[in-house]
Amino acid sequence: MTTKFIATPTGTKAILAKYKFFFKKSLGQNFIIDANVLENIISHTGINKDSGVIEIGPGIGGLTEQLAIHSNKVLAMEIDQRLIPILGDTLSEYGNIEVIHQDILEANVIALLKHHFEDNQVVHIVANLPYYITTPILTKLLQEKLPVESITVMIQKEVAERMAAKPSTKSYGSLTIAIQYYTVAEVVMQVPKQVFMPQPNVDSAVLKLTIRDTPPVNVDDEDYFFSLVQACFSQRRKTLRNNLTNYFSEKYDKETISAMLEEFEIDGMRRGESLSMEEFAKLANSFYRA
Ligand code: SAM
Repeated sequence: MTTKFIATPTGTKAILAKYKFFFKKSLGQNFIIDANVLENIISHTGINKDSGVIEIGPGIGGLTEQLAIHSNKVLAMEIDQRLIPILGDTLSEYGNIEVIHQDILEANVIALLKHHFEDNQVVHIVANLPYYITTPILTKLLQEKLPVESITVMIQKEVAERMAAKPSTKSYGSLTIAIQYYTVAEVVMQVPKQVFMPQPNVDSAVLKLTIRDTPPVNVDDEDYFFSLVQACFSQRRKTLRNNLTNYFSEKYDKETISAMLEEFEIDGMRRGESLSMEEFAKLANSFYRA
C-alpha cells in the first residue's frame, strides 16, 4: 500500500488537520488508518467490479475509497453533517461514489436501493459500524428483508462472537438466534485496536452475514418465536421450565408448563443455551398452537 490512500496515519492526520476536525465519541467515530486491513476486509465481502455497495458511516472516506476501487458503485450514508464537505474533497477523484447525509436508523433503505442501483445489480452492505448502535442497525437491516447479498461489518469482538455463536457456548443467546434466522454468520477477521484513530477501548472483529433466501426453520409467528427465545435466555442459569413459567405466568402455572413441555417432548430441565434453532422453532410453534 502506498501513502496516497486516506486510510494511513499520515493521510488521516493531514485530513483532520486541514479541516480542524475533532472526533465525536457520541457518534462512535473511530477511523481506520491501515489500508491493508481494509484490503483484507474487502477480500471477505464478495464484492467485485459489478457490485453495488452500501456503506454506513464513511467517516473521512478511508473504507469508501477502497470500496470504490473494488466495486461498481458505492452509496455511503453519513450522519455527521461536518463530514459531508470533507468527503466531497477526499473522494473527489472517484466518480462512482455518492455520499448522502443520512441517519441509517431513519433511512428508507429499500427506496435508496431502488433509486441508486440497477434493478438486477447485486448489492452488498459493508461498514465499520459505530459501535454504540451495532445491534439496532443490524436488526433494522435484517428485519426489513432488504434485497442485498451480504452484510460485512466491523464491530465489537464480543458482539461478533455472540452473533456467530454455536449452541452450548458462552456467547450463544437470543441475539445469535435473531441474526442466524436471517443469515449465515461468520467471524472472518480479528482486528487490533492499533488500526483505529482514536483507538477504541474494545477489541474488534469483522463479521460477515450472508443473507439466507429463506429462514432455516419454519415458525408460525416470527414475533412470537423471537420473544419466546428471549424468554428462554432471560436468566441464563435457569432451566427452560423456570424461564417459561415466568414468561407465561399470567397464562399457565408451573405444573401446566411442565406438562406441556413433556407433551411437546422437550426436556424442561435443559437450559436455553443448549437448544438449537430447530428446537427453539419446535418449542415456539408448540406453545403457539397450544
Ligand atoms: N468508515 C470510516 C472508517 O472506517 O474509518 C468511519 C467509521 S466510524 C467507526 C463510524 C462512522 O459512522 C462515523 O463516521 C460516524 O459519524 C457514522 N455514524 C454514526 N452514527 C451513524 C448513523 N446513525 N447513521 C449513519 N452514520 C453514522
